Amino acid sequence: MDFRVGLYNTHIFAKANGKKRSVSKLFLLLLLVFTLSVFAFALYGCANDADLDGKQAAVDIDDCIIPQETAHATEIPSEAPEPTQAPSESATEAPTPAPTAVLTIAPTAAPTEQVNPAQPKKMIYLTFDDGPSKYTDEVLDILNEYNIKATFFTVGISIRQHPKQAARIAADGHALACHTESHDFSKLYNGVEGFVDQINKWRQTVISNVGYDAGAYVMRFPGGTSNSTIGRAGRGAYVNAANNLGYKVFDWNIGLNDRWLAGNKKNLPKSEYFWESYIDTLSMYKNTEPKIFLIHDTEQESVKLLRRVIDDLISKGYEFGCLTDVESNYLM
Ligand SMILES: [Zn+2]
Repeated sequence: MDFRVGLYNTHIFAKANGKKRSVSKLFLLLLLVFTLSVFAFALYGCANDADLDGKQAAVDIDDCIIPQETAHATEIPSEAPEPTQAPSESATEAPTPAPTAVLTIAPTAAPTEQVNPAQPKKMIYLTFDDGPSKYTDEVLDILNEYNIKATFFTVGISIRQHPKQAARIAADGHALACHTESHDFSKLYNGVEGFVDQINKWRQTVISNVGYDAGAYVMRFPGGTSNSTIGRAGRGAYVNAANNLGYKVFDWNIGLNDRWLAGNKKNLPKSEYFWESYIDTLSMYKNTEPKIFLIHDTEQESVKLLRRVIDDLISKGYEFGCLTDVESNYLM
């Protein structure tokens, strides 16, 4: 019994024990599954947390970066206006003139010249008659000082007396022009043949005394084309003769009247009379072109007045040129 019981019991026990074992195994299995599940869940949770942490960290980092970036982004725009403001501020201050100068001066200066290319310069042509003389060097010094080129209507006789000055006129770049050989009306205006001879003699005098062929450039009639001997009515044949020799003919319209002292009705000192004559004739011919200014470089008072006259013309906007660049003009 005991045995049987025992066996039975054992069997039962064994049975029971076997059931218990199965239950235990199941329990253990479930426990293991549970544990594994919990562990896995925990692991997943950790991993998830870790991801979250990571994400959070990344977010945090992103947040750090983004705010910084947004801070930068917001700072940059807020800084950005500064650079634009800085120039615009400085534009109202010191640097502004430079940009505006570039914008206003350069474009306006260029277009004005471009838009009005025909806008004529205010030109005036200084002419010195009857020399060279002992005053001619002073005249040339003054002209060089102002970098002005002029036209010298020289007389052959004067050239022979002052050949160095005649040579200097040409060497300094002025027009060494013809005022005939003798300036003697009786030889000049008794017929075209004598007139032509006086021009040719002057040219030979230049060649032999200056070593320079002035050639056929420009000339001025002694006394002008409407002089008292031939008058305007009779000048045509003489002008044609000069032109046929290749000379352009010029009278004048502005001057000091330094060979017309009879015009000094108020008996002014020469310097005042000359200055008054200059002002009056310049005003009288202000709308006439070309403006041809007669001065005698044989007259000391005229040479003394030269700087004042040039300064005044410059202040009035005049530029100076040679008559070699101008067409014939003898409307006097
Ligand atoms: Zn003369």
